[in-house]
Amino acid sequence: MAAQLIVHNGSCLCGAVSFRLEGKPLFSLFCHCTRCQRADGAVFVATMHFSSAAFSWTYNGEDVKPLVEDMGDLTLYRCEKCRSCAATRMGPVDSNDNWAIRGSHLERDEQGKIIDFESVKPTCHIFYDTRIVDIADDLPKWEGFANRSKRLD
Ligand SMILES: [Zn+2]
Ligand SMILES: [Zn+2]
Repeated sequence: MAAQLIVHNGSCLCGAVSFRLEGKPLFSLFCHCTRCQRADGAVFVATMHFSSAAFSWTYNGEDVKPLVEDMGDLTLYRCEKCRSCAATRMGPVDSNDNWAIRGSHLERDEQGKIIDFESVKPTCHIFYDTRIVDIADDLPKWEGFANRSKRLD
């Protein structure tokens, strides 16, 4: 019997723009970079990367379209209604690069917990050098990008 495909659904704050993810993320991490902090108004964010084949939009595109913000090296897709960033493409608008989504946008159960969190759980902290808060867990902590910067803890 074939193993059941892992599927996660996610959406923006208001739910108008939604997406579906197939399989496990390519990687999943906590990002403490100043860009994520400023973009989300967050101390740090849980970011999960998926291949373009694993990602698809699932909302009714006639009701609301995502606003596309081309930032050169990445493209933000914000919901036209609530303006929250539903997903990020790790390249210019027309690229075929990975998608990055925030763990905070994934579908929750009745207790408010991310459904099947184990399959998308972050495995390290990156840009820990610009953290706002110290994190006391056992995950590796990198100064910048994982495996490409100094490991701090
Ligand atoms: Zn929205
Ligand atoms: Zn970041």
